[in-house]
Amino acid sequence: MLVQSFDYIVVGGGAAGAAVARRLAEAGLGSVCLLEAGPSDEGDQRVLKLRDWMGIAGTEINREYELEPQPHGNSGLRHTRAIVLGGCSSHNAGIAFKPLDSDFETWVERGAEGWDPAALAPAWERLRERVHVETAADENPLSRAFVEAGVEAGLPRVRFNQDPHGEGIGRLQLNQRDGVRQSSSVAYLHPLAALPAALEVRTESPVRRLLIEDGRAAGVELAGGTLRAAREVIVCAGAFESPKLLALSGVGDPEELRPLGLPVHSAVPGVGRNLLDHPEGTVMWEAARPIPPRSSQFWDAALFAKSEPALPRPDLMIHFGLTAGDVKGALSGFPEAEHCFCLTPNVMYPRSVGRLRLRSADPDDRPRLDFGYFSDPEGHDVAKMVAGIELARRVAAAPALRPWRGRELAPGPEATSAEALREFAAATQTTVSHPAGTCRMGRADDELAVVDPRLRVRGVGGLRVADASVFPAMTGVNPCLTCMLVGERCAELVAADA
Ligand SMILES: Cc1cc2nc3c(=O)[nH]c(=O)nc-3n(C[C@H](O)[C@H](O)[C@H](O)COP(=O)(O)OP(=O)(O)OC[C@H]3O[C@@H](n4cnc5c(N)ncnc54)[C@H](O)[C@@H]3O)c2cc1C
Repeated sequence: MLVQSFDYIVVGGGAAGAAVARRLAEAGLGSVCLLEAGPSDEGDQRVLKLRDWMGIAGTEINREYELEPQPHGNSGLRHTRAIVLGGCSSHNAGIAFKPLDSDFETWVERGAEGWDPAALAPAWERLRERVHVETAADENPLSRAFVEAGVEAGLPRVRFNQDPHGEGIGRLQLNQRDGVRQSSSVAYLHPLAALPAALEVRTESPVRRLLIEDGRAAGVELAGGTLRAAREVIVCAGAFESPKLLALSGVGDPEELRPLGLPVHSAVPGVGRNLLDHPEGTVMWEAARPIPPRSSQFWDAALFAKSEPALPRPDLMIHFGLTAGDVKGALSGFPEAEHCFCLTPNVMYPRSVGRLRLRSADPDDRPRLDFGYFSDPEGHDVAKMVAGIELARRVAAAPALRPWRGRELAPGPEATSAEALREFAAATQTTVSHPAGTCRMGRADDELAVVDPRLRVRGVGGLRVADASVFPAMTGVNPCLTCMLVGERCAELVAADA
């Protein structure tokens, strides 16, 4: 018989949620129920075999999100989220970065008191006890040529996560072991048959609304009934679904909720604001010879660079793909070739900020997503993207890549002026799939903050958010391990407050 009441309910078993649930259950604070909308990933080789990660895009565990028209970016772009245990850590490319100290220093400046690198060190150590990270094997001669070409273009060869983070090029680190992705689910929940006694994981259990009673989160509403939480509800449904769930439950901007007929239990106008992402560009070449199909996940090397030498830290990242770059279907109308490789620049610290809003009061509807790509008034983001495309071309022109380089397929050799590159960037821009910031953490007196530095939602007792949506600012690096760290930190805060 189903137990209908728990001490803690965690909504969403993704990168952060799996860590929250495991650590809370181990802390001896009472019973914990993790509710995951999607199925289990256990035994699902589509998910577990990291090498096949690009194949998940067409499956039922991949949910697509359309965008509102993007006047300065690519309106045809689709975001994807994995609806499965492990969340997007069960879908992603496994690129594993220790969060940068400088990113946490920015978070502290923006009001995330207690999130400085020293305070987070114990949580990071605990994360590393469970999440195995290793350097991608040196398997592919074309990836090797990319690294050599970057060195020839003037970048230092680096070991990511080991050398101090700065400009550099090298093979990426991945959260994988023997080719099996070390998602949050694998790392924190598997085997599901041997979970801590205090933890129950329920898959295929999408939460439709939070129950807010007398100013407290009292539980959650599921399709088949309600579950009550005696102590806390912790929402970990990701940067799209967490703010949606809050708003549907009457925690959000009254001006948005009232026209939809939703109650206002707590006026939190920041819910859904501060929608952040890493926009990505694609520079693609035909390979002059067949590319050997040997790689952990076909995106096993990258570089970081400064767009201007005087900058204190890199502001451009370029991933290297042993494949065509239009994996998300955004590039069309460009010549195709059987063998392609690409360099995909992204803006590490974008200044454009978007907003998520409810489409309706129906929990089955996707939210409206307006990322405002390339909308920052100074033109910072598009200028960085153009600099990234130019840098990609410089690296590709270096001698080590010459034997591999065929025709430039996109943007194509005729696109050389800054204007042409700006147009190309806006029309074909993709995403590194790092949405964040929609339940931003901040000081108690910051009216647009959604959670305080202890991840407690403004004006509602017993309710926290812990996932990418609490990021006060975008991380410079790929954020999956940062999300798991948010999960570890959240469990630490809940235990301290219990
Ligand atoms: C294609 C792709 C490639 C990526 N590549 C990388 C990479 O290589 N390296 C990297 O660092 N980052 C990568 N990322 C980003 C990274 O995976 C995410 O930033 C991270 O997983 C976000 O963690 P999260 O906990 O915020 O949300 P998620 O991991 O998305 O977890 C949210 C969970 O909540 C569940 N959920 C949603 N709504 C409900 C509901 N109503 N009820 C119950 N459960 C619900 C979802 O099913 C999901 O399991 C990639 C992302 C994608 C999509």
